[in-house]
Amino acid sequence: MIIQKTENSRISTFDPNNFSFGNTFSDHMIICEYENGKWGDVKLVPYGPLLFTPAMMGVNYGQACFEGMKAYKDNDGQVFLFRPEKNFERINKSATRLAMPEVTEEMFLDGLKALVDIDRDWIPQGEGNSLYIRPLIFATEEALKARVANKYMFAIVATPAKMYYTEPVSVKISDHYSRAASGGVGSAKAAGNYAASFYPTQLAIDEGYDQIIWTDDATHEYFEESGTMNVFVRINDTIFTPPTSEKILDGVTRDSFIALAKKRGFEVKVEAIKVKDVVGAQKNGTLKEVWGVGTAVVTTVFQALGYNGEKLELPRLSDEESFAVTLKNDLVNLQTNLSEDPFGWRV
Ligand code: PMP
Repeated sequence: MIIQKTENSRISTFDPNNFSFGNTFSDHMIICEYENGKWGDVKLVPYGPLLFTPAMMGVNYGQACFEGMKAYKDNDGQVFLFRPEKNFERINKSATRLAMPEVTEEMFLDGLKALVDIDRDWIPQGEGNSLYIRPLIFATEEALKARVANKYMFAIVATPAKMYYTEPVSVKISDHYSRAASGGVGSAKAAGNYAASFYPTQLAIDEGYDQIIWTDDATHEYFEESGTMNVFVRINDTIFTPPTSEKILDGVTRDSFIALAKKRGFEVKVEAIKVKDVVGAQKNGTLKEVWGVGTAVVTTVFQALGYNGEKLELPRLSDEESFAVTLKNDLVNLQTNLSEDPFGWRV
């Protein structure tokens, strides 16, 4: 790895108690270029802009995919990644689906560790705080032919993140738009998936909701995901989440929640969730919780579901009663070294 340390660290301007997520970047970044069928040297360089032309294929044809993961600092200042091999596997799954070259394990994991190590002062301490890390691959070739590009960049950038205490939100169960289609790219973290989700989400916001529960494209009868999160439903004391598929992103948080729920002895069913069954459970009082999970916010609890013009309210549970909050706490404690790590997830 080629290491070029910054001579102008911005760390003295970083106030861990006052920063905005996603706009504050750590001092360094990883970059690596792909050309002539192979990746070049991984470089750790000062964070900053790069030079590309508007004819760059990545922005014209959307050959671009990314990952989202976090590094955590415990009370003693030790730094941990959480299941980074999962993100390594997933970025390559995304790259393959978009006809892009895979990255090697060394590029991904060594680059990640080098960046987190050199920028460890950018990781805010304290429960649930973290450094959000964004690995990405995008086509850089300057060409306007709609075909597979032959030049790419792999990069990793990082931005400090606070624990979000999100208020319960209202979500609209989608009856028209869908996030993914059979044979499509839903299980890839393709940049275009996010572009395509913004407009329907904006419409839902205009209707007074915070997010969308994405339903299947063919019938809109089944839950798939929620915003940019995987979705869980609790009916009585049983937790349901849909199986991953080519339309559903295989979330690291989802997988971790299932394992943590089983460890606590909760009943978890990985099976299709019918909109009709959730609506029915709300009507007969057996619907206890619906929530989304993902790396960024860990858990967002829903307070109401919008369906057919009706707002279906969910019960307000205490933190102790809530499976969503209980499992969120289990996960955050594990990630930040406040609990045992029976699964070997901390790195
Ligand atoms: N679904 C979508 C569409 C997402 O963008 C994300 C965020 N990566 C997730 C689910 C949750 O995945 P993870 O738990 O790995 O962050």
